[in-house]
Amino acid sequence: MLHSLAGRAENAMQARVLAQLRDEGPLSRVQLADRLDVSRTTIAAEVTRLAELGLAQEVGPAASRGGRRSTMVDLAPDLRFVGISIGATGLSVGVTDGRLAVLGSRQIECDIRTGPEAVLAAAIEEARSVLEECGGVKPLGAGIGVPGPVDFHRGVSVSPPIMPGWDGYPVRDAVARELGCSVVLDNDVNVLAAGEQHAGVARSARDFLFVKIGTGIGCGIVVDGELYRGVDGCAGDIGHIRVEEFGPTCACGNTGCLEAFSGGAALARDATAAARAGRSPILAEILEQRGELTAADIGAAVAQGDAQAVQLIRDSGHRVGQVLASLVSFFNPGLIVIGGRVTGLGHALLAEIRGVTYRRSLPLATGNLPIVLSELGDEGGVIGAARLISSSVYAPLAGERA
Ligand SMILES: [Zn+2]
Repeated sequence: MLHSLAGRAENAMQARVLAQLRDEGPLSRVQLADRLDVSRTTIAAEVTRLAELGLAQEVGPAASRGGRRSTMVDLAPDLRFVGISIGATGLSVGVTDGRLAVLGSRQIECDIRTGPEAVLAAAIEEARSVLEECGGVKPLGAGIGVPGPVDFHRGVSVSPPIMPGWDGYPVRDAVARELGCSVVLDNDVNVLAAGEQHAGVARSARDFLFVKIGTGIGCGIVVDGELYRGVDGCAGDIGHIRVEEFGPTCACGNTGCLEAFSGGAALARDATAAARAGRSPILAEILEQRGELTAADIGAAVAQGDAQAVQLIRDSGHRVGQVLASLVSFFNPGLIVIGGRVTGLGHALLAEIRGVTYRRSLPLATGNLPIVLSELGDEGGVIGAARLISSSVYAPLAGERA
C-alpha cells in the first residue's frame, strides 16, 4: 500500500489546525491560537511546518482589530480527496478540495452483485476521470462507503447479506494500490452520518443519530463529534432489532426484524401484496404496467391520495418510531436525521416516526430533540466518505508524538 509521508500531519496540534481550517474555512493565526487554546508562537511554528508539508498556507493579513495584524491561514488550494459511495444498484464518485467542497462528481448505475472486482474497477475509472477534470492532482486519500458491514480496522467487508462475493475482500488495500493514496472503508450509514456532520443538518450537533431507511435500515452514531463504531464495527445495526415476536423472515435469517417490516424491500413486498389483493387500485395499475413495485411507487400512490399506500407508510414509520424511542431513552441524542431512499416518502413517514418517538420517550429526552429529514441526497455519501479520509489524513501518523 502506498503511504505518502508527505502530506500527513506530524503531530496532534497540526491535525487540530487542519481540522479547524477544514470545518471553519480560513482563520487568522490569532483565531487559531484562541480556538485551540495554545500560544501564538506555537501556532506560528506549526503553520510554518504545515506550509512546508504542502498542507496549509498563509494567505495575507487578517482584517485589523487595532494593533498588529494577524496573518490569515488556509488549507493549500490543491488538496484533493476522493469520495466513493457504493449502493446496491449504483455508485457516486466525487472529488473534493481540502475543505470537502465537491469539485466534480459522477453517478453511474452498477449492480453490487457483480462483485468487488467489477464494481471497484468502475469506481476507480470514474475517480481517475473526475480527478483529471479537477486539475489532475494526485489525491491525498480516498474514502469509500459500502452498503454492508465493514471491519473498519482491516478495511474489508464482512458477510454483507446483499453483496455476494465481497466477504473478506480487501477493498481498502485494493483501492489504495490503484489510486496510490491512503484509503478508508466504512459502511454507508457511517459515511452518510459523516456527510451530514460536515455539510448537512447535523453541522452543529455533537451527539446525534443518522437513521438510513433504504433497502435495509441502519443507524450512524455520533458521540461528542466522533463516529462510534463499537468493538467490532457493527454498532447501529438497528435494522435487526426485533420489533415483533413473529413476523416476516429477514435477509439476516431471523424473523420479526425492523428491516423486515419497514425497509424499502419490505415496503415493496407489502405494496405488491396490497395491489394483488385489490386493496389499492393505484398500486395495482403501476404493478400492471411495470411488473414490479418499489418503495418509490408507494410515494407516488400517496401523492395521489391512495389510502392503502398511506397506511403502509404509517405502519412502517410506526415501527421505526418504536425502535427510535428505545434509542432515545438509551442515548439521549440532540438530533435524529432520517435519510436514505425511503425519505422520498417524505413527510408522511416523518410525521409517523416523530409521533411515535415523542409519545414513547421521556419528555426530558425529547423536549429539545429535532427529528428531521436529510437534505443532502446523493452528495452526502461523497462528502461523508471524503470527510472520513480527511480525518485520517489530517490526523498524525500512528506512533508520532501527540
Ligand atoms: Zn434481520
